[in-house]
Amino acid sequence: ARSIAAAAVDRGERGVTRLHRRQTAPLRWEGVDVREYKQEGSAPFRDVTRQVLFADPALASELRCFEVAPAGHTTLERHAHVHAVIVAHGRGRCLVGERIFTVAPFDLVEVPALTWHQFRADDDAPLGFLCMVNAARDRPQLPDAEAIARLCADPAVAAFIRA
Ligand code: MN
Repeated sequence: ARSIAAAAVDRGERGVTRLHRRQTAPLRWEGVDVREYKQEGSAPFRDVTRQVLFADPALASELRCFEVAPAGHTTLERHAHVHAVIVAHGRGRCLVGERIFTVAPFDLVEVPALTWHQFRADDDAPLGFLCMVNAARDRPQLPDAEAIARLCADPAVAAFIRA
């Protein structure tokens, strides 16, 4: 006989751990809400969505999925917490520190602590990526004029960043 808990899981009831979520479309999963990346106006970004895939308090980390629409970009920011990123869909580029990388599915990107970073989708393709992060984390810092000037000392970085 199947347990009540197992039956509840199958029905996808609220508050019960989902053991398996089928992918329903590229970067979409059963029961996972597609949310705003950040509150509009809180930081510069363009055409980004956020999904929380795993956030179990028993793990000290969260796994999120971000999707940047063609020509969109995440916020140029830095923070004490680190990111472990796996590109999952599309193509684009990212800035990590003072370097710009082209990225494609299954590339790995590490963002160290207090390192400026930004992801941009190509103009003609989206960019989706999975991002593992500490569950408890500091607020991202935005660059001030001095930080922007320092980044723009490199013409390639100056041409890349969106702030
Ligand atoms: Mn970040």
